[in-house]
Amino acid sequence: MKNRTLRLVLGDQLNEQHSWFSQTDNNVTYVMMEVLGETNYVKHHIQKVCGFFGAMRAFCDRMRQAGHRFIYLTLDSPDNAQSFEENILRLISHHHISRFEYQEPDEYRLDRLLADFAASLPIPTSAVDSEHFLAPRNIFSTVFRKDQNPLMETFYRYMRRQTGILMDGHKPLSGRWNYDAENRKSLPKDIQVPNHLNFAHDVSDITDMIAVMKVETIGNIEAKNFPWPLTRGEALRLLDFFLSDCLAKFGAYQDAMHSDHAFIFHSRLSFAMNIKLIGPDEVLKKTLQFWEANTETVDIAQVEGFIRQILGWREFMRGVYWHYMPGYQELNHLGHEAKLPAFFWTGDTRMNCLHHAIKQSLDHAYAHHIQRLMVTGNFANLLGVHPDAVDEWYLGIYIDAIQWVEITNTRGMSQFADGGITATKPYVSSANYINKMSNYCKSCFYNNKQRYGEGACPFNSLYWDYFERHRDKLANNPRIGMAYRNLARMAPEELAAIRKQAAIYRANADNL
Ligand code: FAD
Ligand code: SF4
Repeated sequence: MKNRTLRLVLGDQLNEQHSWFSQTDNNVTYVMMEVLGETNYVKHHIQKVCGFFGAMRAFCDRMRQAGHRFIYLTLDSPDNAQSFEENILRLISHHHISRFEYQEPDEYRLDRLLADFAASLPIPTSAVDSEHFLAPRNIFSTVFRKDQNPLMETFYRYMRRQTGILMDGHKPLSGRWNYDAENRKSLPKDIQVPNHLNFAHDVSDITDMIAVMKVETIGNIEAKNFPWPLTRGEALRLLDFFLSDCLAKFGAYQDAMHSDHAFIFHSRLSFAMNIKLIGPDEVLKKTLQFWEANTETVDIAQVEGFIRQILGWREFMRGVYWHYMPGYQELNHLGHEAKLPAFFWTGDTRMNCLHHAIKQSLDHAYAHHIQRLMVTGNFANLLGVHPDAVDEWYLGIYIDAIQWVEITNTRGMSQFADGGITATKPYVSSANYINKMSNYCKSCFYNNKQRYGEGACPFNSLYWDYFERHRDKLANNPRIGMAYRNLARMAPEELAAIRKQAAIYRANADNL
């Protein structure tokens, strides 16, 4: 009897460059499947479901055209048992499969599920690398000592040295590792923000199917004008667009927020990268090539700012995930227990910054980093929302949300629920920061200067109250000494009024 191999390709493993696909083999059958378990474990944004299914279907078509044997189970296929294991067992028996292979999943839950399932099979199995990331899963054991807290800056410099990117021998190119200080500008009035690429796909077959299958989703979609890239070619076009139209201003305005512009100079590449349409190595290579050809118009601060995100933050978060899971998903360092306010699902709040960040997330399944960190994340943290509820929201609403990169950013970086693994201090702020980096406060119902009393901005009282409430866990952190020094200088009656205001806002969070 012939050796027949079945290979599973998951929805975020759409890597045409993977060595699996370097040659065709009639004894190898690939399987891809849309299953209810994956659409229903949280309520996902409708664009996220369409993005994943649309890209999976396009990948399967391209691979078939290239001569590979693919079985594709749509969500509504009568043959679909809606579980990876049951579908695979049926295919093994039906196609007389003698070997099962899969690529290592990026998600801990699936990694365990597939490892246990493979171990239970009576045929040989193997798990291979997904050939996407720059560093291995267990990179932290190489970079950090056991007793050392993983610092992103240390990790980033290690990656720069390892790859030689932006290096001049052993030293950083032009003498500096980091241009963060230059990269904190708000958006000037007269600046030209590009019209971002829209791939205008028609995904109405998918929206129709998920309605029939009663998949509950959140957010909005124009099904005949779906903007996100669904193929490798489109992802490469998006990268080219970013390089030609955005990179020159990326770093300077990467923290800026504006009510008229959702994407500013951001790349919108996270979805394409996270489902592996393109890899971080090629993004970095093309960025450096582009820079070499355009040094007169693109300065190093912009390039370093972008490279830091891919070579640094993205790989660092993956390192955190595999080093600290599964315990990481239980962490709640600050003991937060509050509910997520109902307006997170609608955007209906008088707080203009939250209104815009949430509305935009519902419309585009996208918000850029500072909106996620310093508006929605900041507010949930100041309010004391349970990190499970915050994670659920972030995992559902963003098109790029996959647990390894969502939970580390949300529970860790934005909620400080990991007690300082990803960030050395909580990323919280009063209205001052939001006002500096955006135009939101100018047309807000609340007064960004006021700490208490009618119309006072909720961020202000909640901010000071947060440090008071968490004095036992935070006061000794040298990076936030300034906040405690300011609190010490505050008149007792001022602090009492602020805390009273914060208590009122916390009790009425749904109606702010
Ligand atoms: P750009 O600003 O153009 O940045 C370029 C690329 O750098 C991104 O595409 C992304 O791949 C990478 N990158 C930048 N920052 C980070 C980071 N902190 N961690 C990992 N990669 C980074 N990113 C996700 O991909 N999925 C998520 O689910 C996710 N959830 C987040 C939740 C919170 C609370 C926060 C604060 C951040 C989250 N991020 C997440 C990181 C970041 O916000 C997004 O990667 C970025 O906004 C995606 O938009 P972009 O492609 O235009 O990014
Ligand atoms: Fe947000 Fe406060 Fe500014 Fe309003 S005043 S936009 S609530 S920071």
